[in-house]
Amino acid sequence: MAQLALSNIQKSFGTFQALKDVNLEIASGEFICLLGGSGCGKTTLLRIIAGLETKTSGEMLLDDQDFSTVNCHQRNVGMVFQSLALFPHLNVGQNIAYGLEVRGVHKDKRQDRARKLLEVVGLSGLFDRPVSALSGGQRQRVAIARALAIEPKLFLMDEPFSALDAGLREHLQIEVKKLQRQLGVTTIFVTHDQHEAMSIADRIVILNEGRIEQAGTPTEVYAHPSTRFVADFMGTNNIFTSEFTPGQATMLDGANLGTPSGDMAKLSGKHTIAVRPEYLRLAPANEDTGDLIGTVNFVRLLGASIETELKVGERTFVHTQVSDRAPEFAVGDKAGISFDLDHAWVIPS
Ligand code: ATP
Repeated sequence: MAQLALSNIQKSFGTFQALKDVNLEIASGEFICLLGGSGCGKTTLLRIIAGLETKTSGEMLLDDQDFSTVNCHQRNVGMVFQSLALFPHLNVGQNIAYGLEVRGVHKDKRQDRARKLLEVVGLSGLFDRPVSALSGGQRQRVAIARALAIEPKLFLMDEPFSALDAGLREHLQIEVKKLQRQLGVTTIFVTHDQHEAMSIADRIVILNEGRIEQAGTPTEVYAHPSTRFVADFMGTNNIFTSEFTPGQATMLDGANLGTPSGDMAKLSGKHTIAVRPEYLRLAPANEDTGDLIGTVNFVRLLGASIETELKVGERTFVHTQVSDRAPEFAVGDKAGISFDLDHAWVIPS
């Protein structure tokens, strides 16, 4: 059963519609990432759930109760912002215990809880430290502990790691994921970074211009994007429209892509298909093979992989390979491009 159910949520700022008909059900203990580009409505949706913003219309149920009129302080929601908003005049322990103090929890009890949470986020011993004397990563942990101190029903995070360097960011992503599993708290995490979303979410909700484009597990949205926007956003790169005739080879710009099997064999007419870069094969160019012939215009090393970009006329293809060997093609080389249609995905029109 859904713990949080959003139905037909709309939000307008004057004549501008920031959220259009958002429908989403979130199960208890689920870790959801709201993913999308700048201005797509992620923060607005999170703020509406937190009670920091009002919806224009729609229904919001938490444990089957409408909570839209419950004020923000009574919603039992813990929130971590990009700008952490720690209280500079309070020390670490007081920051963490703040929400409990506001709720009238006895001093001993709240200090006890703050110490426990400091241990959970790996900062035991820093209870009395002024927050001004913490590193960026330590501040993040204090903000997380503060949000969790009230034992929230919902744990909301808005791009909490975007100001941190890549190494620390990755480290904290893993920590937050483990902590969330350990506590079982329902979590909604806003990010514009698909890698971050893939690495931490149980389910990714991709927003575009105020609408949900797709909601699914990381594997589903990565391997089976349901719209072109999602395919682009998840880095599929190779997206093109091809002509299909049942029982016959599929052609692209005169090149033979092979004869489709399975559901793809039933297609007829023009369809958009997507192929991930790791499924492309490159071979020395041979005009006789009927492969697509592309010209390499960019090669870059991405740590564990090498990415090669090729142009076929106006089209761009992207190929990746593991970087255990030197790139086989250099800028200006011609290469044959092929892939198994079994690895291609039809994007519904
Ligand atoms: P980012 O990743 O850049 O933070 P976002 O997806 O979180 O983007 P929102 O902050 O939710 O986007 O904003 C969605 C849209 O609503 C944007 O076009 C923004 O300019 C607009 N918007 C947000 N708050 C207000 C406001 N108070 N008044 C007017 N427009 C607003």
